[in-house]
Amino acid sequence: MRRRALNFLAGLSLLLWLVVVTLWGRGYRAKDDLSWTSPARQRVLAIDSSRGQIALVVIRVQSGVGQFGAAGWQFEVQQPTNMHDIGSRVDFDWQGFGFFVKVFRSLLNGATGPWVIRWFTIAVPDWFLAIAFAVLPIVWLRRLQMQRSRIGRCEKCGYDLRATPERCPECGTVPKRGTAPAIFG
Ligand SMILES: [Zn+2]
Repeated sequence: MRRRALNFLAGLSLLLWLVVVTLWGRGYRAKDDLSWTSPARQRVLAIDSSRGQIALVVIRVQSGVGQFGAAGWQFEVQQPTNMHDIGSRVDFDWQGFGFFVKVFRSLLNGATGPWVIRWFTIAVPDWFLAIAFAVLPIVWLRRLQMQRSRIGRCEKCGYDLRATPERCPECGTVPKRGTAPAIFG
């Protein structure tokens, strides 16, 4: 049961790793923006990817009468930007190692007069996510290698080494000392 959970999580993690690495490369040519606007159009949640960072953005109407564009989901490809550079009237700003948290306001002029929206952005660098999502697949691979060598199989290709414990006849890998199968006798 535990092994099945590890298999599943390692697979999911590998998938997310591929997504992050793809977005990482793409982020220097385009900014990807997936957003959701609330039915009353007073709030927008977005996930953005651009220039080596993935950011979660929450935008909400703070004062005045105004509404965001169309309600519901939207996906947009924009010009790549340094996401930390976005925003004026900063209330909070911290950044380091490619991470940042920034809260700021924008004054907009709508048909019904001026309104203020407040942005909350938290960004994580792609390098961090790539390392984080690689951990489980590596643990999974390591466990598979250990299981193979324990049951007398080549840890690289899985070939049965009971007849040739010194060296894998299939791929040439020499089993590490102490992992040779003790099945003879
Ligand atoms: Zn082998």
